[in-house]
Amino acid sequence: MSATASRLARIRAVLAARELDALLVSQPHNRRYLCGLRAGDGSAGESAGWLIVTHEQAWLLTSFLHAEEARTEAPDFRVHQLTETLPAAAADVLGDLSVRRVGTEHRHLTAWTLADLQRRRPECTFPDASGLVERLRAVKEPEEVAAIRRAAALTDAALAEGLAVLRPGISERALAWHLERYLREHGSDGLAFEVSVASGPRAALPHARPTDRAIGRGEPVWIDMGARVDGYCADLTRTLCLGPADEQLRRIHAVVCEALATAVGGLKAGLGGREADALGRSVIEAAGYGEAFGHSLGHGVGLAVHEPPALSRRSEDVLAPGMVVTVEPGIYLPNRSGVRVEDLVLLSESGVDVLSQAPKQLELA
Ligand code: ZN
Ligand code: ZN
Repeated sequence: MSATASRLARIRAVLAARELDALLVSQPHNRRYLCGLRAGDGSAGESAGWLIVTHEQAWLLTSFLHAEEARTEAPDFRVHQLTETLPAAAADVLGDLSVRRVGTEHRHLTAWTLADLQRRRPECTFPDASGLVERLRAVKEPEEVAAIRRAAALTDAALAEGLAVLRPGISERALAWHLERYLREHGSDGLAFEVSVASGPRAALPHARPTDRAIGRGEPVWIDMGARVDGYCADLTRTLCLGPADEQLRRIHAVVCEALATAVGGLKAGLGGREADALGRSVIEAAGYGEAFGHSLGHGVGLAVHEPPALSRRSEDVLAPGMVVTVEPGIYLPNRSGVRVEDLVLLSESGVDVLSQAPKQLELA
């Protein structure tokens, strides 16, 4: 059975359990996961297509732009080439299928689209089915793990290459571009996300974008980036210092690395996402930096760079073998300094497998 045929069988079991007659899939990663069509969406209103899955049928509604690739990439689906809008076409197919309860991804559809569907099919209900496909996606198949491993290895290689050009005076932007070019020249399909480089006091901004700031000696610089290989993302952060680091930077880097090692050492299938978060957070709190770690410990990674499960204080997810998650503790000291170190980790039956191999040493000669 092909990967998509087995995924279809699994989502149909979910439909039965939820008493849904059909599932309308509009989220692009969910669409790719279920049918195989690689095309992504453009901006809002530029969908590459929707899926309608019932217990017997599977339809891919797509435009002329993607119809040809759909026929080869999505062989388990009947391709309906649009001559009308997506909601109009979906309403026609739903009418032909005589379905009533149609699960829809409310978190992804606009309110306008949902109202349009309801107006066209007043006899149907459209209960929220957000997260159903994401829950399947959270547990990776061996081929998916293999793609993530390739993405992680490419990301490690890019970092090593970036460190070779890192000199005092190079700008954050120039370093980010060097890393991006390496990733793209070595097989990354675009990027998992924009390369992030933050140095000096800007290292205290957890989501900093690279600027023209010149990187100096003795200050923190962190790099956060990920390749995308066969659609699957990697996610890696390292914090470095050109030359000797001061006492404070060495201290917070050591605390973050200890939090990372403690969390990775404690991760296991069956653990709650909240407990996983606490593994790393408790180390940072015990060192007196709890307030300086304002984000969650980690997140699932796959077709999307942020996907379930969440390793956070609010998570209700439970870790299972086959999940791939980041562990990324950080300490951010406003206007002064910041450190984040992030590894990608595969949960297995017996424990964990750390996919990121890049060294964690702070000081570069
Ligand atoms: Zn990251
Ligand atoms: Zn991350």
